[in-house]
Amino acid sequence: GWGSKKKREKPNILITGTPGTGKTTTATALAESIQLRHINIGDLVKEKNLHDGWDDQFDCYLINEDLVCDELEDLMEEGGNIVDYHGGDFFPERWFDRVVVLQTENSVLYDRLTKRGYLGQKLTNNIECEIFQVLLEEAKGNYPEEIVVALKSDCIEDMNRNVATLTDWSDEKREKEGE
Ligand code: ADP
Ligand code: MN
Repeated sequence: GWGSKKKREKPNILITGTPGTGKTTTATALAESIQLRHINIGDLVKEKNLHDGWDDQFDCYLINEDLVCDELEDLMEEGGNIVDYHGGDFFPERWFDRVVVLQTENSVLYDRLTKRGYLGQKLTNNIECEIFQVLLEEAKGNYPEEIVVALKSDCIEDMNRNVATLTDWSDEKREKEGE
């Protein structure tokens, strides 16, 4: 009827968090576990040129948010997507059934980013981003509180537990929608 929310058979999950917290590793494992489509926004932006050039200051592509949203609209409406990105304030709220914010202890994150070759300001910016819980605040500001969940991602056990938790939740949701 009027105003009723469209139900997706399969859920859409946003996995966000500071670079290095384990978004891509977790999303890859989860996609395999529950047979959903893993969409790595960074890769998509590069592949489909959904950017306005290279940002020298931040050492990354200047993502074109409108192009990204246009590109994904049909897939998101269909459902069954795991979106992997260190942000999410420009995605429509209606897209997601669950927003997961991964969090990593500082010294652990420092080591991961150093291994990745991050240095100087880029390293400091990302560590500060984690300390001030920027992605969690952003998620809480953009999505209903009840769909946002912060999960610790310090070690492999954490990751396995997170994948299991999200798999259970997705199965429950599918059963409910199937009733
Ligand atoms: P992101 O996509 O958030 O930048 P990645 O998934 O690329 O993070 O992970 C960064 C690095 O940290 C990788 O080498 C990955 O193997 C490792 N890693 C990620 N999550 C965990 C975890 N929970 N426990 C141990 N290592 C992890
Ligand atoms: Mn990644």
